[in-house]
Amino acid sequence: MRPIIFFHVIKTHNLGLFLLVVFFCVTFATVFELRNMLKRVITPQEVAIAKKDFGECRNVVIVCHTSPDGDAIGSSLGLYEYLKRKGKQVTVIVPNYFPDFLHWMKDADKILRFDRQKTASYAALKLADLICCLDFNDMRRIDELGIAVGRMHCKRLLIDHHLDPDRKQFGHIISHPEMSSTSELLFRLIDAMEDTKNLTFAAAEDLYAGIATDTGFLSFNSNDPDLFVIISELLKKGIDKDRINRNIQNNYSADRLKFIGYVLYEKLQVFPELHASLFAIKKEELTQFHYMKGDMEGVVNMPLQIKGHKLSIALREDTERPLIRVSTRSVDDLPCNEFCEQFFNGGGHKNAAGGTLECSMEEAVDIAMKALEAWRDRLADDANAAPNPNVDSKP
Ligand code: 5GP
Ligand code: MN
Repeated sequence: MRPIIFFHVIKTHNLGLFLLVVFFCVTFATVFELRNMLKRVITPQEVAIAKKDFGECRNVVIVCHTSPDGDAIGSSLGLYEYLKRKGKQVTVIVPNYFPDFLHWMKDADKILRFDRQKTASYAALKLADLICCLDFNDMRRIDELGIAVGRMHCKRLLIDHHLDPDRKQFGHIISHPEMSSTSELLFRLIDAMEDTKNLTFAAAEDLYAGIATDTGFLSFNSNDPDLFVIISELLKKGIDKDRINRNIQNNYSADRLKFIGYVLYEKLQVFPELHASLFAIKKEELTQFHYMKGDMEGVVNMPLQIKGHKLSIALREDTERPLIRVSTRSVDDLPCNEFCEQFFNGGGHKNAAGGTLECSMEEAVDIAMKALEAWRDRLADDANAAPNPNVDSKP
């Protein structure tokens, strides 16, 4: 049937015009194929902001949050790659140490550490006509680097997925808390600008790493079908997802494995009727296992493997400051960010949040126990059951 129509068209119409129309249809379909597959969550105003800021800048500094994780480093280096490809001079500055398992990313060794490389960091900041702030919502989340960024008079563009950004601190804001990661947001933004052709192989690796780490390798915050379209597009750039997963997950010391064994066997307190747990680690215990920053990564997620578990709390003495770092993880609709706001001077995402306490570990444990008791009605199946949060299920 089709060839007959085709020849009929050739015979009765202008062939050149017909072929031109076919050519435009194919080109249009190819260019818009991906864009039509992703929901259009980036607004035209956000596209305009990004086009203007990325178009006008020459010297860019990218900063991300303190103790950067896979999404902070992945989105920062992803944007670095993209802007370099567009001919910009780009520097990534992080507030402090980032874990060894992220150093495989291209140009990770060019990242400046503000706590150790102040002169070079200030030189880049002073030269910058655009500072991109990635994966945090408040300058206080980047400590001293936030004060330095606040002093600069250039444009500040926030690209982030945390709730309630402090709007006064940033000139332009592209904030999408519904997204899994800043890396996902960055991909969508570049896609909305119709510019994924300028996402290099290395940028695709970085963005995949950011999405993977902020979703626990697609095990939470990852039900949006779009996420799989995005990963599919990153795979088309040639990335080896399995190797990246291994680079991130299987890159620890033997001491870290023994440390995890120690935490789970000796330190974990489980409160079965609250479907919650708590562990508290002191500095001397960290030293005993030759603790390196990053060694605690993911340990707080482990108690969630207990059937029916809803909330995991980790308390750790900071190795540099007299502080207790609080880290929490929850499942489904239990908002551990609200839990951290209420009891631990913190916040974060619904299922992954943290905070700090300025007190002794004994007092911190006491605060955490009281917090669990205060949330009994949200945690226990039967909130009227006799309170007994000290039950420990360890043999
Ligand atoms: P983590 O438990 O991995 O240290 O942090 C998980 C998430 O909690 C982070 O991505 C961040 O959003 C949030 N978070 C951690 N510590 C703090 C804090 O002290 N204040 C606030 N507002 N958020 C935090
Ligand atoms: Mn993130």
